Amino acid sequence: MDLKSLIRDIPDFPKPGIVFRDITTLLRDAKGLRYTIDLLKQRCVDANLTVDYVVGMESRGFIFGTPLAYELGAGFIPVRKPGKLPSAVHSIEYQLEYGTDCLEIHQDAIQPDCKVLIVDDLIATGGTAAATAKLLQLCGCNLVGFGFIIELRDLNGRASLPNVPIISLVEY
Ligand code: 5GP
Repeated sequence: MDLKSLIRDIPDFPKPGIVFRDITTLLRDAKGLRYTIDLLKQRCVDANLTVDYVVGMESRGFIFGTPLAYELGAGFIPVRKPGKLPSAVHSIEYQLEYGTDCLEIHQDAIQPDCKVLIVDDLIATGGTAAATAKLLQLCGCNLVGFGFIIELRDLNGRASLPNVPIISLVEY
């Protein structure tokens, strides 16, 4: 299946000069959605990844991370924007093009030494995924890999990630 044909390009969103890769058109396609999750799972199996937990970032990481966790027989753990998680959190600040952003995870979400896969819809600069990897370091768990639906190769986001398998299904 041609996943790219289900991803819609939106020029000048969220600001002029940016082409936004819109995955809502992929999500609403029943066969495309099933194929995407099945393929992501297969790529994890092919890479011999053992996964106790999938960690997904708010909010599109939740959409793909949860069904993948189900398929892998793993649990799912959300990484959220500040102030959303109700119990004690680890926080990490990271650089954006202009300013900083912050992500949080529950301190007691993951026991040390668990094997964790980070999942998001898209990797661009890698800032979000690298910050999430640092959160997992604070939790003391083992990062076993990253899974993305889309990778923007020109931005070379994978260069800022730790040295573990990086799975992506579609490249631009
Ligand atoms: P990065 O931190 O790698 O520069 O940006 C990745 C994050 O921004 C991801 O959480 C992703 O959801 C979001 N993002 C950036 N650009 C796009 C895009 O064109 N399409 C989608 N769907 N998400 C994007």
